Amino acid sequence: MARYTGAVCKLCRREGKKLFLKGERCTSSKCSLERRSYAPGQHGQGRKKLTEYGLQLRAKQAARRYYGLSESQFHKYFMMAVRQAGVTGENLLRICESRLDNVVYSLGWANSRAEARQLVTHGHFLVNGRRVDIPSYLCKAGDTVAISKSSLDSEKFKSILEKTGTVPAWLETGDDNTAKIVALPTREQIEVPVEEHLIVEFYSR
Ligand code: SF4
Repeated sequence: MARYTGAVCKLCRREGKKLFLKGERCTSSKCSLERRSYAPGQHGQGRKKLTEYGLQLRAKQAARRYYGLSESQFHKYFMMAVRQAGVTGENLLRICESRLDNVVYSLGWANSRAEARQLVTHGHFLVNGRRVDIPSYLCKAGDTVAISKSSLDSEKFKSILEKTGTVPAWLETGDDNTAKIVALPTREQIEVPVEEHLIVEFYSR
């Protein structure tokens, strides 16, 4: 499936929850979901109670859209999660969190996951000292991620680095715009607004 290129706020309205796809706008009063908290389309305001299948589908779609993944990529991660030891739903979310674009976003080095994906593609980051331009690169515990020195002079990074914010406990920022993945996140450290057991049920039908 090709990547979705339509209006992203519609995705939040479809899921009925904030997926934080637009950076600062998401926490401002300009958020579309706060102004129009119903699904898009002609019948958006006449929503019916969801079936069990509907709930599972919506959970899967919400998680997929939150991380900006295609159906085939998300399903591939699900199959990886099944093969890992532990709870499949948690494994799935942990895999999504460990993507390089998500790590960059979580570190506050991009305003949204979509922007993080673009910055990674443009080669602005190093993993363990080597340039990595693949947004789906899966980081491991102990990896170090850094902004490449040549990128630090750009206006884009100057403005990003001026902002301050907290980073999740599984990441640790260091000097010289580097960060370390202390450990992959536990479920409690993952903020995705879905019940992952519904995703497992969806793919296990
Ligand atoms: Fe979703 Fe952000 Fe748009 Fe609000 S502003 S609807 S949270 S993408």
